[in-house]
Amino acid sequence: MPNDPSDVRTGEDPTEAVLSESGLNSKHLCDYVINVATGCRHGCKFCYVPTMPSVRTRPEMLKDRADVDDAQQEWGSYVLYRDDLPDRLDSHLNRKRTWKRTSKGCGIVGISFATDCYMDGRAGKITREVVDVLSDHERYARILTRNPILSLQDLDVFKGAGQYVTVGSSIPSMDAEEVGAIEPQAPAPEHRVRGLEELNEAGVQTFVSMSPTYPTQSKEDLRAQLMEIAECDPSVVFHEPINPRGANFKMTVDAARSADQTRLADELERLQKRDRWVEYSLNHLRWMQELGDELDMPVHLWPDKQLLKYADPAEREWLEGWRERQSPEDFANRDTPSTPMPDHPGTANAAGVE
Ligand code: SF4
Repeated sequence: MPNDPSDVRTGEDPTEAVLSESGLNSKHLCDYVINVATGCRHGCKFCYVPTMPSVRTRPEMLKDRADVDDAQQEWGSYVLYRDDLPDRLDSHLNRKRTWKRTSKGCGIVGISFATDCYMDGRAGKITREVVDVLSDHERYARILTRNPILSLQDLDVFKGAGQYVTVGSSIPSMDAEEVGAIEPQAPAPEHRVRGLEELNEAGVQTFVSMSPTYPTQSKEDLRAQLMEIAECDPSVVFHEPINPRGANFKMTVDAARSADQTRLADELERLQKRDRWVEYSLNHLRWMQELGDELDMPVHLWPDKQLLKYADPAEREWLEGWRERQSPEDFANRDTPSTPMPDHPGTANAAGVE
């Protein structure tokens, strides 16, 4: 993993697709996605993107354009940019006659969920132009970045787009050392909060994704984190626990250990035992719901489908309710729920982890 940004191999991405329909409407995020690049400088160890077909099935292109031998192992050290995307998007939208709008995705375009659209200046320039094109065509854009401070350079575009744009950041934890161990190239969490605060002060709608929260976090840690996040006045705080699936989970544990974050590494490793994962996931989801109520914050939970299989019937009903519940944002003219959710089942904190 490069420490020097100039060590990242770069090139141009020949991807032809402009706008892709997305399954992220199941998380109330969007119906379409646009990715401004293939590859991501942040190189988060838990990142699932290198396992996606857009990366996994293109080894020859990655070898040819950025000398990549192993897309997963080298994740974070190659980026192929899509500089011509804004022009092609404009032509595409001029020709496009139908637009998908599901009740959860609301026709929103997500930028970018398979890379960070503000990972650097070149990606940011593409993003700026993409947002401009989308708002010209009156399409809603949901920007997700771990570097909202860099996005501040585009405040004029966001203000011009007005109701058509919301900017959010993933803030899994406020522990900079733990976050830095498994998100080695990304800005520290306090920078993300500060960037969102400035966006909010400038009148831009914001959101936060506490995804994934770490098994080392207590309820008190989550409370303190939510209180810091409250300063950004986000329209929603999405939350999900980590899921120890896939080859990249071992890389995540190894990265925590080699950064001397032994407690994090040990706790992550324990999640590979299903009972422990279920206990931690239910605790974090329950705590986040309680804290959202306590602090009057717009928390929205993303329970994993697999968790439903292992929960007891009352918990399953509670989790299913969250999977169906509408995000509390009014962004993109969303219909917000008129009835409150049933309380979570009053199961005791079995392990007293709190
Ligand atoms: S910022 Fe997002 S896309 Fe980039 S490495 Fe991290 S999780 Fe993956």
